[in-house]
Amino acid sequence: MPNSLSHQYFIQAQALIPGGVNSPVRACHNVDSEPLFIRKGEGAHLTDVDGREYIDFVLSWGPMLLGHAHPAVTAAIQEAAARGTSYGAPCADEVALAEAVTAALPSVEMVRMVNSGTEATMSALRLARAVTGRSKLVKCIGCYHGHADPFLAAAGSGLATFSIPGTPGVPDAVVADTLLAPYNDLDALEAVFAAHGEEIAALIIEPVAANMGLVLPGEGYLEGVRALCTKYGALLIFDEVITGFRAAFGGAQARFGITPDLTTFGKIIGGGLPVGAFGGKAEYMRRIAPQGDVYQAGTLSGNPLAMAAGLATLNILRTADYAALERKVRAFVAELKAILEGKGVPIQIPTLASMFCPYFSAEPVTCFADVAKADAALFTTFYKQMRAQGIYLAPSAFETGMVSFAHSDDDFQRTLDAARKVRF
Ligand SMILES: *Cc1c(COP(=O)(O)O)cnc(C)c1O
Repeated sequence: MPNSLSHQYFIQAQALIPGGVNSPVRACHNVDSEPLFIRKGEGAHLTDVDGREYIDFVLSWGPMLLGHAHPAVTAAIQEAAARGTSYGAPCADEVALAEAVTAALPSVEMVRMVNSGTEATMSALRLARAVTGRSKLVKCIGCYHGHADPFLAAAGSGLATFSIPGTPGVPDAVVADTLLAPYNDLDALEAVFAAHGEEIAALIIEPVAANMGLVLPGEGYLEGVRALCTKYGALLIFDEVITGFRAAFGGAQARFGITPDLTTFGKIIGGGLPVGAFGGKAEYMRRIAPQGDVYQAGTLSGNPLAMAAGLATLNILRTADYAALERKVRAFVAELKAILEGKGVPIQIPTLASMFCPYFSAEPVTCFADVAKADAALFTTFYKQMRAQGIYLAPSAFETGMVSFAHSDDDFQRTLDAARKVRF
């Protein structure tokens, strides 16, 4: 919209901030659009600076499972802010949030708070390397673990291979220890372990891959991953930055009944404030400084506002009806799929808990190679026409749609009505 305030802000922003945004995908490049500048979020709705309202299926990329500005979360933040925003000394809510997290996930016996998911994964990797005395890391192609150097490796081929950096600025040497395997492929993973098992410190994985759209683990896959790590003495790190408190209150590990050695968190755990965390077996976590010798620190870690927001969020989620939300999402997705099929476009919509991803593809999506086959042009058409009708979807064919407890039946119906009007 050439005359919109969003457009004017974007022009200004591009002169001051690289690409006009503080995180790349927000720029809406992938969908041939400009970003909306947001003035307000309330429940399942966003209002942009031009005063237009949207039904939000991005939810800040995951954190806002309760919807925006939940009154209890807002009150907790306000109450905390009035007592000062940072002390650089321990506060009671750090203990309470650690207690809430360890109670929700039995595999997490101790936990350390950080400020982002990126910090959580880089710290967990450091710990795994220290615990095992090994240096190699295995990650799955298409899984995202934040922007720390060792995780930014692209695949050379669909088979397990040595990595090349996925971005300039990451030296070859930094990703030389990152080994890749396709998601959902136990044979390929077994080959990686057979070749490098004695050198592998950890395997890090999104138990449900939610950064290449939404790719669900196949039957027995996570069990196989667990068994391989155990067999070769590598630590299994579940990156639950998205799935933690979303796949189930106890995360994907509760839903699938798998016990990782370490778990990373972010997004929901901060209730919309910048928080991450990593935790796991006490015998490993005791290696973290100052109890142990593995250095890890943060000026704002355990920040009182962030702890209050996270705690208020988890306190509500603990008794939230996840099953009811999932039923609503499944019904919504079934109707959306029928509408799109009726228009003659190829469509798959994998769904889990409160996540869904429309892939414009005729084939089931089980790994990154499948994801890459989806028709991005059809997605862009869909995205633009939905946004024009007030439906705010993630601006990329490779991002998961998020639903919150604040989405109403009316929100779902309006979204389906909008989908009915899309012309491909
Ligand atoms: C978002 C995300 C991260 C990175 O978290 P940031 O807070 O953006 O640094 C890491 N892992 C997964 C699975 C994520 O979805």
